[in-house]
Amino acid sequence: MLISLCSKIIIKFTLFIFLLVIYGVISTPPEDPIKCSSNNTNCTITNSNGAFPDQSICKASEVVYPTSEVELISIVALASENNRKMKVATRFSHSIPKLTCPDDDTQNGLLVSTKFLNNVLKIDVDAMTISVESGVTLRQIISEAAICSDRQ
Ligand SMILES: Cc1cc2nc3c(=O)[nH]c(=O)nc-3n(C[C@H](O)[C@H](O)[C@H](O)COP(=O)(O)OP(=O)(O)OC[C@H]3O[C@@H](n4cnc5c(N)ncnc54)[C@H](O)[C@@H]3O)c2cc1C
Repeated sequence: MLISLCSKIIIKFTLFIFLLVIYGVISTPPEDPIKCSSNNTNCTITNSNGAFPDQSICKASEVVYPTSEVELISIVALASENNRKMKVATRFSHSIPKLTCPDDDTQNGLLVSTKFLNNVLKIDVDAMTISVESGVTLRQIISEAAICSDRQ
């Protein structure tokens, strides 16, 4: 009787740990593709696989994280004035080729990340449209659309 109770507890506990591990694995977001050695300077960028097809490391001297359109415009204006090569980088960097690499021989390349340009700006239920900033994730759009359809 006692042995069977113990084995039931062990089975339940094992199942609980198993489900906990699965939940942890499923809900862990992928690593940030941009890594910098000091604050937001001396950076590298890769894709969501962790390596570009040619296995080379893409370097950028700096990454900036604008949080508004106004900030974005001034960053781009300043970089243009200084003839800096710049590329847009997203939170997940899904493209397999080196599209996000500034490829700057002078090592002065700038990454403009849309990580924090991720607001949902306007939802027009009648027109069935959502206006979003360019860094919004698919998960955010789907969640917002689901909230709207629940309200109807
Ligand atoms: C598992 C997997 C499945 C995929 N399936 C498909 C599929 O079914 N169909 C398909 O078409 N593709 C697919 N792709 C490819 C991927 O969806 C595309 O490459 C897409 O461009 C990645 O978008 P991203 O937001 O991650 O941008 P990134 O890869 O970071 O950027 C893509 C390019 O767009 C530029 N860019 C990004 N945002 C902006 C912006 N706001 N303004 C200006 N330039 C910008 C970047 O500089 C870069 O050159 C898949 C990729 C993966 C990893």
